[in-house]
Parts: sequence; structure tokens; C-alpha cells
Amino acid sequence: MELIDGNKTAADIVAELKAEVAALPGRKPCIALVRVGDDPASVSYVKKKEKTAAEIGIESRIILPPISITQDELFNILDDLNADPTVDGILVQAPLPKHIDEVAVFRRVSAAKDVDGFNTINLGKVAQEDDTGFVACTPAGIMELLARSGTDLKGKHVVVLGRSLIVGKPVALLALQKKTGANGTVTICHSGTSNLPAITRQADVLIAAIGRPEFVTADMVKPGAVVIDVGINRVPDASKKTGYRLTGDVHFPSVSPLCSKITPVPGGVGPMTVAMLMKNTVKAYHLATAS
Ligand code: NDP
Repeated sequence: MELIDGNKTAADIVAELKAEVAALPGRKPCIALVRVGDDPASVSYVKKKEKTAAEIGIESRIILPPISITQDELFNILDDLNADPTVDGILVQAPLPKHIDEVAVFRRVSAAKDVDGFNTINLGKVAQEDDTGFVACTPAGIMELLARSGTDLKGKHVVVLGRSLIVGKPVALLALQKKTGANGTVTICHSGTSNLPAITRQADVLIAAIGRPEFVTADMVKPGAVVIDVGINRVPDASKKTGYRLTGDVHFPSVSPLCSKITPVPGGVGPMTVAMLMKNTVKAYHLATAS
């Protein structure tokens, strides 16, 4: 069994971007990070994004509206950022408070600055196999991990567990694309799927993104499969200082001996998400400065 090391792959991408940004003439790429309220997970995610941007040489602009902000006020902030020629990428940290329509916010971010890849236009471009758009960071990170670990999806049965707009659906579309490295035969499973283990057992490549701790067990995996565990779940653990431990959607101890390759949690898909956000920001900069 080979461990797919997301920390190392993400560090490689960060190093590549750092070299690319250092060679840019004039102004550097800039990402606006909008965090509504003080949700502790969001605070740590935005901090990590700010830190990685600084490491690469990408400027970040942090905007911290209070939790009480109205949707219209948030739209005004986004409209200003959309119009600002010195801002290349905009990220609105999810989750947003309940009184704000998350999808409407994602749509409000200009498609040209939507480095999170959640705007309708960019999701559509994934379906159309149009590479001028932005691919959502977690699915893009999964594809990059597969490519850099030498996993070609052509002729393989790829089973995606989960159909969310941020992971399951876009990664299924990417695996399906008719291009080198992709070209998989894709099945998407969800809570309405009957006899799920019979389907997951057919997977040459199994991508688990359902948000259920250690849901995928050994009896659900074909020996020799490549397993990508997207899940990040907090499970209560009194032995930890924090009171919890992080676990994936895959039961790693029983599944890993069966696999040809597997991502760990933490240290698998997670670090790739931030690296791909930075890659999208540099892409947005190039598109903006070329036009
Ligand atoms: P969502 O909750 O939005 O979607 C979960 C999906 O799994 C849904 O499609 C749901 O089906 C399906 N599902 C849930 N329970 C079952 C079940 N028992 N059997 C079959 N299908 C089921 O989750 P996300 O896609 O946002 O996230 C998935 C996981 O990935 C989470 O652990 C999250 O923390 C993690 N994540 C990690 C990231 C990273 O950077 N590594 C980034 C984003 C997410 P239905 O549609 O029918 O409800």
C-alpha cells in the first residue's frame, strides 16, 4: 500500500507557485478573503489561507464583516471587490450564517474572480470542459493528487460517494472529462443509493466525500483500489487536549491494507484545497493581466 502524501504534494505546488510569482513583473496577485463572523473552524481556515498566500508572495486582503451583516451589505462588499482591479481572486469562507443565501453569494462573486469555483459559470465550464474557468479547490486537489501519484483514470471505474456541489458533483465531472488523466467511467452514490457496498466494491478508484466518520469499511472496498478520503470529521476523543480527533470518511485501519494507494486524514486532500486556491488565484491574475 502506498500513502498518497497531500502535505508533500501541496508543498510542491506552493513551491512551484512561489517561483512563478517571484518572476512576475509589477504588482503581485491578490486574493480577498471574506470571513463573516468568528466560527472557530473558519478562523483557522482563513488564517491558513492567509499564511500560504504570504509564503507564495500573493497579497491577501482580509475582510471580516460581523455575523449580523445583511445579505445586501455582503453583496455591496462583493460588488466593490468585483470592481477593484487590484483584486484578482475572492473567497467567501463557508459556512455563512443561516440568514444569508450561500448559493446567491457564490453567484455574486464575479466569475473572473471566483477562485473558489462555486459560481454557476465556473461549474458550467467544468461540465463543458472549458479550461478558462476555475475548478473548485477540493475537487481540483483530488485530481492533482491522482495525477501526481500516477493514477490514470482512463478505463477505470471511479465511484464517488457524495453529490455535494463543492466536492461530489464537480469531482465526478472532472473524472468524466475526455482528457488525459481523466476519462473514467463514473458512478455517483448518495443517500438514495440502494446496495451501496455492492457499487463501492466495483470501484477501481473510490472517492469518499459524505461527511460520515469511518463510513467506508473493508467490506466495501475492492482489493487493489485507489482510495481518496475527502472527509474531515471531528470525533469526540477524551484523550486529546482539544477533546476531539480528526477522522476521514474511510475506516483507515481496515481499508488501508487492502488498497494500492490511499490518502490519510489529516494530511491527504485537506492541504491540497489551500494549494489549489492559490493556484486558482495565480491563474486569475494571469487572466486579468492578459486582458
Ligand atoms: P455534504 O454534507 O454537503 O454532502 C454529503 C453527501 O454525502 C451528500 O450527497 C449525501 O447524500 C451523501 N451521504 C451522506 N450520508 C450518506 C450515506 N449514509 N450514504 C450515502 N450517501 C450519503 O458534504 P461535503 O461534500 O461538503 O463534504 C463531505 C466531507 O468532505 C465532509 O467530511 C467534509 O468535512 C469534507 N470536506 C473536506 C474538504 C477538504 O478540504 N478536504 C473540503 C470540503 C469538504 P444526499 O445528497 O442524498 O444528502
